[in-house]
Amino acid sequence: MISLTRRSLLTGTAAVTATALTSIAPARAAAPSIGKQAPGFYRYKIGDFEVTQISDGALRIPLPDGYAQNVSKDEVLAALEAAYMPKGLLINPFNPMVVNTGPKLVLIDTGMGAGFAPTVGLLPTNMAAAGIDPKQIDIVIVSHLHRDHMNGIRNAEGGLAFPNAEIMVPAVDWAFWMSDENMSKAPEGMMKQFFQLTRKIFAGLSDKVTRFEWGKEIAPGITALDTRGHTPGHTSFAVASGSGRLLVQSDVTNIPELFLRNPDWHVIFDIDPIQAAQTRRKFYDMASAEKALIAGFHFPFPALGHVEKDGNGYRLVPVAWSAAP
Ligand SMILES: [Zn+2]
Repeated sequence: MISLTRRSLLTGTAAVTATALTSIAPARAAAPSIGKQAPGFYRYKIGDFEVTQISDGALRIPLPDGYAQNVSKDEVLAALEAAYMPKGLLINPFNPMVVNTGPKLVLIDTGMGAGFAPTVGLLPTNMAAAGIDPKQIDIVIVSHLHRDHMNGIRNAEGGLAFPNAEIMVPAVDWAFWMSDENMSKAPEGMMKQFFQLTRKIFAGLSDKVTRFEWGKEIAPGITALDTRGHTPGHTSFAVASGSGRLLVQSDVTNIPELFLRNPDWHVIFDIDPIQAAQTRRKFYDMASAEKALIAGFHFPFPALGHVEKDGNGYRLVPVAWSAAP
């Protein structure tokens, strides 16, 4: 019999009977620390579709200045602390996903790609661990043309990471990022780099890239939804099979601990922050009313859950992990 009181929990001196003590005496082997995580993939079913969330890793960085543009850094630091993140640090995860629709194997978003940081660009490793061969991917859908979503199209050598896949991008984002006029008007720094990167990643591929429109089924059971704001062509997806339905929010919110709880905060990457905030509320009012299952690219792995209204914002209720899809 073990008796736990607040005091015993705090002091670590739970009273344990003599019999129990002998049966739970720990082995004293000095095992070395291993220092690695298990591969990050998680499977579940949406109707007849098998979906695999695949971790591309996470960045753990000191909170950059201006990460939320319309509130003070202290307010953001307080929100991170309230979410129990390590003091002063922001943890931002990246979660592409594979949808096996039966006729087509579809990858949605591709992660940071090689060479950015050791803790990201893990999609190829984790995809291999999940038993998915990159050559099997029929379609790569990119939700919007930001580095963390498109860079994984290319492997470390600069070749195509998914050599047999059709690449699909939002028509509106393609027009925006590929416009020389927009690039010349872009301020130096982050925005200019985004334009340059888009050109680098898609160099020589414009004939292979399909530009998709909102409101259409662009792959079996996968419909593109207009969630503009974060970028002009930012797209979410409804995945439907039988009675199963999943909303893939892409970047309607950046990390939920900040921007789902505070939907009117403007993440530094939102190109039209007012529109992005309106989209965020519209999307999450709809999703919470529907009690929809939601995959979020920047949600904590496995990046899947439901969202409820909470005060002036929303809260994420992550799915319970299941050993069987
Ligand atoms: Zn993103």
